[in-house]
Amino acid sequence: MTVFEPAREIPVRASVDVLVVGGGPSGVMAAYAAARKGGHKVMLLESRGFLGGNLTIGLPILAFLGPKGNQVIKGEAQKFIDRLRARGAASEHKRCKNHMSLTIINSEEAKNVCADMMEEVGVEVLMYVFCCGVLKDGDRVTGVVIESKCGREAILAKTVIDCTGDGDVAFRAGVECHKGDADGGMQPPTLMYQMRGVKMQELRDAIVNHPDIYDMDVMPPEQFKSGYFITVGLRRQIREAQEAGLDIPVSRTILITGLEPDEIWVNMTRVSGTDSTDPASYTRCEITAHRQMKDVTEYLRRFVPGFEDARVEKVAPFTGIRESRVIVGKYVLTAEDVLSMKHFDDAVVVAGYPVDIHHSKGGDCTMLFTADAYDIPYRVLVPEKVEGLLVAGRCSSMNHEAMAGTRVMSTCMALGEAAGTAARVALEAGVLPSAVDVAAVRAELLENGAYLG
Ligand SMILES: Cc1cc2nc3c(=O)[nH]c(=O)nc-3n(C[C@H](O)[C@H](O)[C@H](O)COP(=O)(O)OP(=O)(O)OC[C@H]3O[C@@H](n4cnc5c(N)ncnc54)[C@H](O)[C@@H]3O)c2cc1C
Repeated sequence: MTVFEPAREIPVRASVDVLVVGGGPSGVMAAYAAARKGGHKVMLLESRGFLGGNLTIGLPILAFLGPKGNQVIKGEAQKFIDRLRARGAASEHKRCKNHMSLTIINSEEAKNVCADMMEEVGVEVLMYVFCCGVLKDGDRVTGVVIESKCGREAILAKTVIDCTGDGDVAFRAGVECHKGDADGGMQPPTLMYQMRGVKMQELRDAIVNHPDIYDMDVMPPEQFKSGYFITVGLRRQIREAQEAGLDIPVSRTILITGLEPDEIWVNMTRVSGTDSTDPASYTRCEITAHRQMKDVTEYLRRFVPGFEDARVEKVAPFTGIRESRVIVGKYVLTAEDVLSMKHFDDAVVVAGYPVDIHHSKGGDCTMLFTADAYDIPYRVLVPEKVEGLLVAGRCSSMNHEAMAGTRVMSTCMALGEAAGTAARVALEAGVLPSAVDVAAVRAELLENGAYLG
């Protein structure tokens, strides 16, 4: 059934040069890069009451370092870490055989650093607004429609950058979008939560001294002797817990150290079949994921050394979405490109994270490693047919397997920086982003410290 919504005039809240929609890792970097040289009006829209997106749900940032151990994500993303480190709110980049590197951050400070960065370069931030439509002139996007407590309003923009994770702007602008693998299967979401009171030495000792019992995927036990870590393993313990009647939705125990010595973030809830672009599906996911925490926590207390007296301290503000829409851009990055480390002349990011697919059904995962870092071309940010729009972050133009590597936050930040830079370079040259001089974009990224191979 449908109803007719009458056409109506709506107020124009603002008219800007660059409008970024979505204030996650890609959006914050896009807005900063668009505004950092001054001279342009830049606005950032965010539907939640804080900036940072998935930077705020208790995840480490993976793969600042590439497979060979050299740093591949630098530029503004590294400066973001420097800002956090100045507040004691981030670790160094720790090498990891499975994840290339992990950088632990304090989620609350991440929100503050994002907000400070926007203020520093004069980006106007508007929270609690949901982008629900686009304005177009022919095939060119000229702004967006937002919905808030004020009702519907328009924001006009010379260039819009979609950093919503779900490709909301692109989808509404008529850009072709895809979801998941050939069968539409998407990587499942996870509700992250934090436990405190973990006896970390007991956990380390178990993994280091009894690898036959406390097994890890890929990672040598010595990796757990000291410093920050992510466990991916303890498969046997999960099987035992399942045999004992606990409902554990994953095959591997993924635990991430925090900045405090007794702090662990648990990455073990999983709601297969969720589509975050359908509110009914996302609602079921949230409710299910919160319910799953009970058995997962009991599992940790009963079967994993060091957790006997640990308590749940914090739950992430929302269940994190690994995968939803991706756009079809001027180029679609594939797993073959990633795994063969294909060179692109228009590379704007060099990334190092392997293809890491959490299966859409069941509780396991496939990892496909690369020998070295790989290029991501500018064209993945540019929709194939719609003008005046760039798309950065996990919804850029990649197939299911490629985005399973590029989706990590370090890479998304670098994609955001590239999009924001391109938007500004295009405006200054008086051309559309699809016609920007990519050599000039690359030159500016390099000038700001990026690594492009
Ligand atoms: C459970 C889980 C574990 C992960 N593990 C890791 C890890 O360990 N390390 C790592 O580096 N990466 C990890 N990732 C991947 C990574 O977190 C994401 O791929 C990355 O954050 C995507 O960044 P983004 O900027 O594209 O989108 P997001 O971080 O999703 O940000 C999008 C932002 O846009 C806003 N928004 C969305 N729609 C609208 C709208 N219509 N209007 C206004 N605002 C809107 C959202 O509120 C949000 O703030 C994980 C992801 C998940 C879900």
